[in-house]
Amino acid sequence: MNTARYRRIVLKLSGEALSGQNGFGIEPRVIHSITSQIKEVAELGVEVAVVVGGGNIWRGKVGSEMGMDRANADYMGMLATVMNSLALQDSLENIGIPTRVQTSIEMRQVAEPYIRRKAIRHLEKKRVVIFAAGTGNPYFSTDTTAALRAAEIEADVILMAKNNVDGVYTDDPKVNVDAKKYDQVSYLEVLNEGLGVMDSTASSLCMDNDIDLLVFSITEEGNIKKAVMGENIGTIVRGK
Ligand code: UDP
Repeated sequence: MNTARYRRIVLKLSGEALSGQNGFGIEPRVIHSITSQIKEVAELGVEVAVVVGGGNIWRGKVGSEMGMDRANADYMGMLATVMNSLALQDSLENIGIPTRVQTSIEMRQVAEPYIRRKAIRHLEKKRVVIFAAGTGNPYFSTDTTAALRAAEIEADVILMAKNNVDGVYTDDPKVNVDAKKYDQVSYLEVLNEGLGVMDSTASSLCMDNDIDLLVFSITEEGNIKKAVMGENIGTIVRGK
């Protein structure tokens, strides 16, 4: 029986979530642990869209700090997200989950172009849709992509899977032992207090469109399912 709290989700994975210990590259074993968790929720009948970052391969900001043109460096970052998306697709299909990758930058030999109505149709047919190449625009992030796509496909929630932290804290818990975890917090607080959840463009977009966000740790196996079932893990960030 499907007792999931959410009908349609956007799962935001950082590029780092696909890498091994050193935070770089793509580690098939790690990807398998994530895609098995995605399979668990897809089999509940939940419609799953995935937005994956590219920070395990390249970040535009780093390139621009090395003297590159920022827009060019950002396009490289967007291409990195395509590589991660294909790795996720491969792993999901290996365990029997049908998928489609849609890219915001056209590369028809590799994946479908992003078409909102088509993405929704795939989701209705219970295919996992992986949104690649960010928003297609430099100066944005894949967090903003997750917010934008969640609004477009009318997702119930963004599940923001974090690597080494299990929610939103008053301060960096690795630095300040007195940092307290929020159960619930508003986007306004996130923006005003500068809480390290997502960048301010993404937070504003979520706030203005009243999109709920659940920040949780992906390091523990089974957490994606727990999040989808509405178990009390992580921190929920709300518009109001
Ligand atoms: N990026 C971009 N526009 C977008 C999304 C991503 O220019 O709409 C670029 C940007 O350079 C970014 C890189 O892609 O640094 C990788 O994305 P992100 O940093 O969000 O990945 P994550 O931190 O989630 O791994």
